[in-house]
Amino acid sequence: MNYNIDCNGYYGEFGGAYIPEMMHANISELQQNYLKILECEDFKSEFSKLLKDYAGRPSPLYHAERLSYYYNTGIYLKREDLNHTGAHKINNAIGQILIAKRLGKSRIIAETGAGQHGVATATVCALMGMKCVIYMGKLDVDRQAPNVLRMKMLGADVIPVYSGNMTLKDATNEAIRDWICNPADTHYIIGSVVGPHPYPDLVARLQSIISEEIKWQLEEHTGSPDPDYVIACVGGGSNAAGAFYHYLDNEMVKLVAVEAAGKGIDSGESAATTVLGFPGVIHGSRTILMQNDDGQITEPFSISAGLDYPGIGPLFAHLKKNGRAIFEHATDDEALEAALLLTRLEGIIPALESAHALAVLKKIQFGSDDVVVVNLSGRGDKDMATYMKFLEETENKRYK
Ligand SMILES: *Cc1c(COP(=O)(O)O)cnc(C)c1O
Repeated sequence: MNYNIDCNGYYGEFGGAYIPEMMHANISELQQNYLKILECEDFKSEFSKLLKDYAGRPSPLYHAERLSYYYNTGIYLKREDLNHTGAHKINNAIGQILIAKRLGKSRIIAETGAGQHGVATATVCALMGMKCVIYMGKLDVDRQAPNVLRMKMLGADVIPVYSGNMTLKDATNEAIRDWICNPADTHYIIGSVVGPHPYPDLVARLQSIISEEIKWQLEEHTGSPDPDYVIACVGGGSNAAGAFYHYLDNEMVKLVAVEAAGKGIDSGESAATTVLGFPGVIHGSRTILMQNDDGQITEPFSISAGLDYPGIGPLFAHLKKNGRAIFEHATDDEALEAALLLTRLEGIIPALESAHALAVLKKIQFGSDDVVVVNLSGRGDKDMATYMKFLEETENKRYK
């Protein structure tokens, strides 16, 4: 089985570039140049220098002993939460702004859900002295206030989006609209492995540093570069794509993709795309998405703004279809409990998104000798208000 794109940007039957005429010039410029740029020595050395000196890579691979004892298996956390700006998003943002520079662009636009991609983009724009416009659903602006402040401090224009359910999908629509109106000077930094070809492949390559590091770090810990499991949460799928990338062809390594079930799969308030969705086209690529009988996109729901998306990257639609990855899901409540458990056992407050990956640890029967890598995609600072509410409710219950 092949897990790479073909020459038209398809993973099997998923992917491609379904775009309006007006976007064609920008997309084909990117299609024709991205591999050339990625492979050029000058890009490679600037990218790896910034990842190291600016973002703080390599991020540690931490053997979580108390969590391992709790689940009676060997658990390692890939600490993307320790990157500059607090998540894996910075890897992609640095890579793409270096590409934008080489394409002669001076203005950057991006969409954001939890605000982590917006912050990462605003950060690299400050670093490179570029103009920055971030589109963010109004609901997300309200529930991720600390990240909105960070973006503003960094000099970005944050534009609240009032269409749809005012979350990530709607912000993405607005960013696409902006790009169509400003084709010449603007680069659109998409934050996940979604969108028209070449974005899914481009973002996966930029995030693949995660599994590149896991391999040598795990070899140092255990003597083997290959774990039994790699577990990652999936919104669009960029942190999972990065964590899976160098293991895709090694069938001995089980890959577990975790979607957000929201209030429950059958609650009508969920974001578990591969359970509830069907093939269709969203934001420029053919993939699996949540839609009604008329092909209209169903509004997703998750407590976690970063997972609140009705689609999934085409790579993941492919991995689902051919069975290479195991798809699991976790509800809001399961994620909150998993976040509290990690915090109390290891002193690490995870992002709500990452907590979904942690929540499936109790759902899989691991062997005591298994090596399980969980990609801790981000840190929980932005989610403190949600966590405090959960903590108060939990303590109230306990004292009743
Ligand atoms: C954005 C985000 C996600 C979800 O996006 P992917 O592209 O699926 O990785 C997950 N975790 C964190 C911390 C995020 O900021």
